[in-house]
Amino acid sequence: MKKYIMALDAGTTSTRAILFDEEGESIFKAQKEFPQYYPKPGYVEHHPNEIWQSQLAVARECLEKSGIPSEALLAIGITNQRESTIVWDRKTGQAIYPAIVWQCRRTTEWIKEAQKAHPEISEKIREKTGLVFDPYFSATKIRWILDHVEGAQERAEAGELCFGTVDTWLMYKLSKGNCFVTDYTNASRTLLFNIHSLEWDEELLSFFGIPKAMLPKVNPSSGFFGEVDSEFLGRPVPICGVAGDQQAALFGQCCFQKGDVKNTYGTGCFMLMNTGNQAILSKHGLLSTIAWGIDGKVQYALEGSVYVGGAVIQWLRDELHMLDKAEDSEYFASKVEDSNGCYIVPAFTGLGAPYWDPFARGSITGLTRGVNKNHIIRAALESIAFQSRDLLLAMEQDMGQRLRSLRVDGGASGNNFLMQFQADLMQASVIRPRSIETTALGAAYLAGLSVGLYESMDSLEERHHVEMEFFPKMTREKREEKVRGWKKALEASFGFGKED
Ligand code: ADP
Repeated sequence: MKKYIMALDAGTTSTRAILFDEEGESIFKAQKEFPQYYPKPGYVEHHPNEIWQSQLAVARECLEKSGIPSEALLAIGITNQRESTIVWDRKTGQAIYPAIVWQCRRTTEWIKEAQKAHPEISEKIREKTGLVFDPYFSATKIRWILDHVEGAQERAEAGELCFGTVDTWLMYKLSKGNCFVTDYTNASRTLLFNIHSLEWDEELLSFFGIPKAMLPKVNPSSGFFGEVDSEFLGRPVPICGVAGDQQAALFGQCCFQKGDVKNTYGTGCFMLMNTGNQAILSKHGLLSTIAWGIDGKVQYALEGSVYVGGAVIQWLRDELHMLDKAEDSEYFASKVEDSNGCYIVPAFTGLGAPYWDPFARGSITGLTRGVNKNHIIRAALESIAFQSRDLLLAMEQDMGQRLRSLRVDGGASGNNFLMQFQADLMQASVIRPRSIETTALGAAYLAGLSVGLYESMDSLEERHHVEMEFFPKMTREKREEKVRGWKKALEASFGFGKED
């Protein structure tokens, strides 16, 4: 009988279940959206039961509709939206509060106060966790729940409550409470995990007032985590791979060597560079994080993100009505030779790494009478590549190593113009794989390696098929001219939103 791995991909807006075969080919997929809640400005929540129910539904649908018997299912791999925080009752398995989602900014003030009272804390957090002290990560979200749900702190101290990121929550549910565990990659996004000693950090736990009793056990990303109860898929199935979504994508792209980089072009862009067995502290405000733990070894990554990536194309579509579909941007951009001196800096919510200017605002510069819609669309696509380039340069500097090639995925990586321009700007080749489901693929690889469906990481590279490779072809003069223009355009955006 042919054997399969099922990847459960618990994303931010939908859950997916994808079946992969021995070749690493995806053969069936089911997907379901779940509701987003915005109770106040800046607040983002999910309902933990809705995540669980939709994940279970797609897993079952995948088996039923594909006709593959559960006996053929060797293992399950899980990948998930990272940092989002769930606290539940250990006995009943009921969440005591909605999931506070990674995007939620509700703890901004708490952090400001903490920084005032403890000026040294941000640096300490950075050294131990590789992260910046920001509401994005789990610790202050847990703090918020313990402060706002009556009796929660006492119950947590008495060991009656569990904290988990979405992977942990799903495994708890799937195993009917038998399995309370996470993996290194998810733990490394909490602000509580020491990425060097690979342990929950006592000093940080005490700083945040979070009892250790509520934290899951932390496992390597590939290996046995626990078993799905037979009620759910017809028989017990082992869970053998877990990683947060961006790390799973890095793995799914086979970025196994130090210096390998992937960039995911979605609403925003997420770039991760494998830094080998060393956690590199960035000089440009990038994050250091655990890429994965496998075979007793841990690899690290540098991470940075572009806040507005594909979203600039959505903006052209929905606000300026220049496009019906995001994909059409390629056609319009290719109708003109260049952007005719026009630049867009989509700093709608400020600029992150490596610029770090929360007061930056968007700009369209370089306008002359001849600039038309095609030039503007082209400039918007170019802005995605410029921002990614700047992030990559920062990574190269931190790493002291030049990029060989960039592996890409995500919705906007389907845009050939954008990918060619990216290759031109970086003077490196851009590699687009055949399977753009790299996140789920990464989870399947981690699980498949553990149960022997895939023999080794080398054998995964052999399975990794390139769909298209883009080689740089722009002249040096042209490239330098474009970069000069981009830098001037950035100047127009910096600080624009600051009150005088
Ligand atoms: P996410 O996972 O963040 O929701 P996706 O990976 O589905 O994002 O990518 C969707 C984003 O990419 C949208 O912002 C959309 O505007 C943009 N996008 C999708 N296809 C293209 C394309 N062919 N060209 C340019 N942008 C695109």
